[in-house]
Amino acid sequence: MDEKFIDFIQENFKSKDFIPLHPPVFIGNEKIYLNDCIDSTFVSSVGPYVNRFEEEFAEFTQTKKATAVVNGTSALHVSLRLSGVSAGDEVITQALTFVATTNAIVYAGAAPVFVDVDRDTMGLSPVALKSFLEEFAEVKPTGTFNKFSGKRIAACMPMHTFGFMCRIDEIVNICNLYNIPVVEDAAESLGSSYKGKSSGSFGLVSGFSFNGNKIITAGGGGAIVSNDIELSQKAKHLTTTAKEPHPWEYVHNELGYNYRMPNINAALVCAQLEKFQEILTKKRNLYDVYKNNLVDFGLQIVEIPEDTKWNYWLMSVLLDNKKERDEFLKFTNSKGVMTRPIWQLMFKLPMYENCQRDKQENALFLEERIVNIPSGVIL
Ligand SMILES: *Cc1c(COP(=O)(O)O)cnc(C)c1O
Repeated sequence: MDEKFIDFIQENFKSKDFIPLHPPVFIGNEKIYLNDCIDSTFVSSVGPYVNRFEEEFAEFTQTKKATAVVNGTSALHVSLRLSGVSAGDEVITQALTFVATTNAIVYAGAAPVFVDVDRDTMGLSPVALKSFLEEFAEVKPTGTFNKFSGKRIAACMPMHTFGFMCRIDEIVNICNLYNIPVVEDAAESLGSSYKGKSSGSFGLVSGFSFNGNKIITAGGGGAIVSNDIELSQKAKHLTTTAKEPHPWEYVHNELGYNYRMPNINAALVCAQLEKFQEILTKKRNLYDVYKNNLVDFGLQIVEIPEDTKWNYWLMSVLLDNKKERDEFLKFTNSKGVMTRPIWQLMFKLPMYENCQRDKQENALFLEERIVNIPSGVIL
């Protein structure tokens, strides 16, 4: 690794300054819509942008209904509750993920169980899932139980890493055999699709994030989507303090949450959504540049897995081993080119070290080798 790689990155990003991993870009109606919120005084928990966003987002994700919420983590938390997860249950997920996936499971009162990922998609592996369920699952009239822990396996939450789609159709088929609902953590995969079907439209319920580092942002925000109208109505109810409609009385008929996305954040994300295709095109161009040139620097770009139509969210390279990875991270970051390793596996974090897991061969392989490189939109 030498200075030539840094020069190459700086030339492409047209900057000699610090180059972040994925900064947001505002190239549309953001200021107009934000001003509109202020002028109208509707900056908070009700307003026309929330409604507009929910309608546009359901259409965008090919789902029947979307509910806007404060962030992706709360979207996942409520999605799990909607899928029937409650205290004492278990949820199957991958250890190679951002901590929010696993935290949401615990917020819902359940314990995570870690199943390995595929090497190419970096998302939950249907092969590993099938073999886990064959070994441990017992289908009973009251639910599917884990023979190892005695707990009910209440849901399966795969995550589409960096916008690559995991083999979600196979995962849904396997889960159907065991009566386990699927909740997609689609926080990173907005705009990606698998075999022509939109990310977030496979699960019973799915969660998205519009944090500042995602492909489009609300400042902070998230969304719950579903094709089940009744569950979607419940999503709205739970995320708005479970208040029953009434002209003046405060009647809350169950334990709800104050998770509603403020109008000001909805205004921002409405403007961002209008520019989605433009953002995606620019990101695709960057990926093509990487694909054609990184080999000259001895770097191996991670290629788009089969059947994914990718949103080009975070691009990555595969290093030979942990030592090479650490050297690459050290060199690039010292030169103002931001790079980041993939996440530490969840069972290495103190709160998740005792969770049940399989061998995790692929997750361990990827953890030591994958590094994200600057993937932002070049204007
Ligand atoms: C960003 C992210 C989340 C959480 O989103 P927030 O809006 O930051 O709460 C959840 N899961 C994954 C995989 C993410 O990347």
